[in-house]
Amino acid sequence: MKVGIIDADLIGRAKHRFPNLACEKISAFHKEMGDEVSLLMSYEDIGSFEKVYISKVFTDTPIPEWLVSYVDGEYPGESYPGFLPNFISSKDAVDISIGGTGFYFDKAPNLPYEIEHHKPDYNLYDEWIENEISKAKSEKGDNFNLTNFMVQFKEYTDYSIGFLTRGCFRKCKFCVNQKYDHVFEHSSLEEFYDETRPKLCFLDDNFFGCPKWKPLLEEALKSGKPLKFKQGMDERIMTEDKFKLLFSAKYDGDFTFAFDNISDYNIIHDKLKKLRKYTKSTSVKFYVLVGFESVDEIDIENAFKRIELLMRYKCLPYIMRYQDKKYQPWKESEFKGMYVTLARWCNQPSFFKKKSFRQFCEANQAIHKTEGTICASMKAMQDFEKRFPDIAKKYFDLRYADYNFPEE
Ligand code: SF4
Repeated sequence: MKVGIIDADLIGRAKHRFPNLACEKISAFHKEMGDEVSLLMSYEDIGSFEKVYISKVFTDTPIPEWLVSYVDGEYPGESYPGFLPNFISSKDAVDISIGGTGFYFDKAPNLPYEIEHHKPDYNLYDEWIENEISKAKSEKGDNFNLTNFMVQFKEYTDYSIGFLTRGCFRKCKFCVNQKYDHVFEHSSLEEFYDETRPKLCFLDDNFFGCPKWKPLLEEALKSGKPLKFKQGMDERIMTEDKFKLLFSAKYDGDFTFAFDNISDYNIIHDKLKKLRKYTKSTSVKFYVLVGFESVDEIDIENAFKRIELLMRYKCLPYIMRYQDKKYQPWKESEFKGMYVTLARWCNQPSFFKKKSFRQFCEANQAIHKTEGTICASMKAMQDFEKRFPDIAKKYFDLRYADYNFPEE
């Protein structure tokens, strides 16, 4: 059978660079069945395949109009006895299955057991990467540097990727993770481990919420490979034991936690004190969710409150602007410019580490090209300051660089 696989995020998002694990598992499963599997880089020729899978992680990844209609149920077609529960059968007899949070948000059906627990096909993207290399070589000629160019593909080439655990008990309203009410063991490391890959990447939703976190992490550490947890870890449930083992790891990149709610301020503060007993790393980052509870000055102030606390513990914020399946509330806000500027300031650590919010806006103004006009960042800051001088006075001049590591 000829099987086509579409990673919709790869096609629809120019800068997307992370393998779709479901696509890799589907590929491996079909290859084992003797099928001919291709990663498709467009929707044009799906008619030449008997079976096509389309997977999407991000809700705002664009897809073709006809596919939007399928998803919205305008063309339910005939039932097709595919083995995925969420099949959609088209009229031209191509059996199309769609899946992932990008289509179903919090209601994404699971893959069948035999696919979910199949070792991923880590070679699924090889041909695409080769093509990208050839294109870049012919564009850049003598200036092409393969090592530099390959950095963007490291997630495809360097990592064994999987879920040691799945599920979460918190059911945060803004999260796609609503299916379970606990964290449970999902795959053994062996299931997705590739000896030839130098690093490990775990996609677990709330790893430290699993009662078995310790033996699972110890097992991963035994591999001796650098590892990382891709999702924000749940700081609220961290204990000294957990910090100790986590910070003993050869960690790859930033340690990323979540600081989603201002109501967790005290507990996060308490945990930050503990965290700093175990690491002096300057690569501890926290996702700061904004635009969910409201999109007004209170939400902006709550973001600054969290940023200030993180600065005190030499941690970095990463602003996450809330969006659901179809809606990005911050875009409708009168403070849209503040949301954009906050994200640009915080999410570029090279700026955040050196400049206050005000200095960041001033730096933007200094390189603004149209003389005599004011840049968007400066305008957002000045408008906000005029209306809420107390908030501005408290937060706009704080600088990460002025804080020292807290005393133990
Ligand atoms: S704790 Fe994290 S994974 Fe769990 S529901 Fe909340 S956001 Fe989702």
